[in-house]
Amino acid sequence: MLLSYLSRQLSPIEARIVHDTDLAHLLTDSRTLSEPSSTLFFALRTASGDGHLYIRDLYDRGVRCFVISRTEEDWSQTMPDANYICVADPLNALQQAAGLKRMQYDIPVIGITGSNGKTIVKEFLYQLLRKDYRIVRSPRSYNSQIGVPLSIWQMSGEHTLGIFEAGISQTNEMERLEAVIRPTLGIITNIGAAHQENFADTRTKLQEKLRLFSRCQAIVYNADHKEIATAISSSPEAAVAIGWSKTNPGAQVYICKIETEETHTTIKFRSDGADYSITVPFTDEASIEDVLHCITLISILRPEVLYAQDRFASLEPVEMRMEVKAGDRGNTIINDVYSSDVYSLALALDFQQRRTAGTQMKKVVVLSDILQSGMSAEELYAHVAAQLRIYRPDFFIGIGEDIVAQRHRFADLHAAFFRDVTELLTSAVLYECSDSCILLKGARKYRFEQITERLVQQVHETALRINLSAIVHNLNYYRSLVPSGTKTICMVKAQGYGVGSYELVKTLQEHRVDYIAVAVADEGKELRERGITMPIVVMNPERNAFQMLIDYRLEPEIYSFTLLRSFSEIVVRNGLSDYPVHIKIDTGMHRLGFMPADIAKLTEALAEYEGLHVRSVFTHLAAADDPAFDDFTRSQLLSFDEVFNALESSLGYRPLRHTLNTAGVERFAHFPTDMIRLGIGLYGVTASGVSGLRPVATLTTTILQIKDVPAGETVGYGRRGRLSRDSRIAVMPIGYADGLDRRLSCGVGEVVIRGRRCPIVGNVCMDICMADITDIAAEEGDTVLLFGEELPIAEVAEKMQTIAYEVLTGISPRVRRVYFQE
Ligand SMILES: *Cc1c(COP(=O)(O)O)cnc(C)c1O
Repeated sequence: MLLSYLSRQLSPIEARIVHDTDLAHLLTDSRTLSEPSSTLFFALRTASGDGHLYIRDLYDRGVRCFVISRTEEDWSQTMPDANYICVADPLNALQQAAGLKRMQYDIPVIGITGSNGKTIVKEFLYQLLRKDYRIVRSPRSYNSQIGVPLSIWQMSGEHTLGIFEAGISQTNEMERLEAVIRPTLGIITNIGAAHQENFADTRTKLQEKLRLFSRCQAIVYNADHKEIATAISSSPEAAVAIGWSKTNPGAQVYICKIETEETHTTIKFRSDGADYSITVPFTDEASIEDVLHCITLISILRPEVLYAQDRFASLEPVEMRMEVKAGDRGNTIINDVYSSDVYSLALALDFQQRRTAGTQMKKVVVLSDILQSGMSAEELYAHVAAQLRIYRPDFFIGIGEDIVAQRHRFADLHAAFFRDVTELLTSAVLYECSDSCILLKGARKYRFEQITERLVQQVHETALRINLSAIVHNLNYYRSLVPSGTKTICMVKAQGYGVGSYELVKTLQEHRVDYIAVAVADEGKELRERGITMPIVVMNPERNAFQMLIDYRLEPEIYSFTLLRSFSEIVVRNGLSDYPVHIKIDTGMHRLGFMPADIAKLTEALAEYEGLHVRSVFTHLAAADDPAFDDFTRSQLLSFDEVFNALESSLGYRPLRHTLNTAGVERFAHFPTDMIRLGIGLYGVTASGVSGLRPVATLTTTILQIKDVPAGETVGYGRRGRLSRDSRIAVMPIGYADGLDRRLSCGVGEVVIRGRRCPIVGNVCMDICMADITDIAAEEGDTVLLFGEELPIAEVAEKMQTIAYEVLTGISPRVRRVYFQE
């Protein structure tokens, strides 16, 4: 689409087109820029930031087309050859642009909504129909007000079917998505409690979701689901509804029988007078339900596919994770287990790009043949090579017959090719990778897990898994509680409350957190050495680490006169001026900080000592989580106000002021603050009982051995675990040296195996503990959860009679941290 055409369609407030361009790419996030010359950037304002702040940077990187909503700056002066379209609402413009694109193609488009399973249904349909259509679909779960337009923009003349997801969290959002997707066929998967807070009730939410289908020729739904069936029958879309049912033989698709065996499930059903039987390699109810939606959709779109037994039998489970693991020799391994195809390759390369930006790490990409792409090998690998050329890995490893045959296309890359994984493993190539970020992306049949095993020495079966997407969710949750424009400082002291600071900080830096704070200078140094560039505050700067602070651009917290004087001296000795420092005021915590009574002396000292610039002034609340102390908290806040005002007027400039920790943001967000200081909430633990957070950390291990022990015997040291019945005991490789607190011994603590709680038996040992699994069908090798979604950290903390902070920070460094994004 041409910029000039788009500009006319958007009816802008003002526009300047210096030279017309064809727009191949839309961009809303400056970090994912790939081809500047054909990119149109939309400067959106969201909870996490203002796109206008990145225009200059993008211009410097070659972008020339912008959709903006502000024109204070005189662009014709500073960016003479930039095109811009100024509109009232850039998000609206983005959706309009995508809507225009959509209108150019007259192909069937499937729109999927519902509370869960959207992505799985989309991916199953893709797998089932890719032999019959050239399919364009949402990347991963791009289903939001921003994600949907970006997905639609991928449509081109070669596609013959579109499959897009639509997710909403508020009323009136679906109408906007409908205008962008304009689905001709619809699926509603189910309805649950997600995002309930923004809707009056489930019915309202359902009615809103059904708006996606206002132009559909058919809507697929579960006719056994009472609420959905009622809503559909009373909505204007009722005429075209096609339901599946396990109970009603009169349904359009009647599911006669579902037989689940150990590894697969056979589904017998009747549609349009014909009987079918298919077998899928799943046994869980959720996957079967997803398959039933697919069957019903296919019965409308292309019923002959229902006879393609092999396609159903070879459906692959959809995993939506990118796992990041620490390997040996300084390597980081990104394991992209998402389905292997061309556009998920672009996403994975982009992910790797961000992980390595600003670091010294080399980028290594290991890619297998991409199967069943629907393109010829020539076309496919030309495409792959073009993608790689954008991201320029330092080393490319291709695995598989097709890639080997197409190796000439990768001639301009440093590359190696192997027919299969065994050939790679017998070569020395992997041993030569060090200090690299290695992206593994392989179709299932190539068994890339063998490569992972080789790269990661598995010393310990126990792992702390960190969901980086949940951290981002929590960050944005707290941002939404305070006025936009409020800055954020994230507390990553104690190695990020135990979850490990580097991956965390990398993610926070990407999400434009303004500051992070660490406890000691060494933590800051390590982050700088690994490429973190964002501002870092050191909360407990020791005198002998002052030079380190300066060498690594770390900003100290100053809490005493001695510290102030000696830091000023060292700054001056280094020939520096305006070095940022953060002044801490003690308004009642009575830990570190200047007392309000010292303020006159402090202003004098600040005027006298040279070289410093007070970047911020702050205080810490002692009991913001406890309503019983609200008067005290308010007195802290008021006393801080006075101190701040006094300091500001004597300094002659305005430092940032900040007071609120997690509990403070949850309960005192109405007190003005320039910056919030997030700690425990970021890690998914609420300070006062708010419900918008997602758990971040999951501690798991495995069952090493199972044994039957008769009643009357005892388990473990000191014979403390006496059995009152014949029992099955599971032995697990985790003990107090890993951070499993000994206070959880003898039935105080529990573990979760196969979704069921099992009590810990006997004393927790140094490296081992035992649980009673008499009541469940567990096996050796099963995963055991110590805390996580099914057993909240807060609950474990309560059993230990302590706080969640101690549980998290107590996990020993020898426990491997595994990071993933959803
Ligand atoms: C640790 C810390 C925080 C964060 O506290 P949470 O209760 O985890 O939110 C905020 N401010 C200061 C000064 C801290 O030391």
